[in-house]
Amino acid sequence: MKVKKFMAVFLTFVMLAGMLPATAYAGECPAEDSSRNGGNHFWNVISATDPTCTSPGTVTSQCVYCDTTKTEQTGSALGHSWSDWAITKKATCTENGTRSRTCG
Ligand SMILES: [Zn+2]
Ligand SMILES: [Zn+2]
Repeated sequence: MKVKKFMAVFLTFVMLAGMLPATAYAGECPAEDSSRNGGNHFWNVISATDPTCTSPGTVTSQCVYCDTTKTEQTGSALGHSWSDWAITKKATCTENGTRSRTCG
């Protein structure tokens, strides 16, 4: 059963190797070595938010080497999309009425 044992060792090695890249280069960020990746961080997007009425969307990235993060805006705020005005109180002979509208 030599082959089976070899496969077991081989698979263990492959599994360990698969776990390496994230930690193998820790502290070796290209940002500290301009000969690699033009001296730039290697960004990996870790989260994103959609734009809303009042704020633009954002994309947060993290460097795979040094864990530095950055957040960038994408596009711009959508602006409110108002409904039509609705009469909430009818005007009378002596009082002004009121009206309202909502976004979304
Ligand atoms: Zn970095
Ligand atoms: Zn709105």
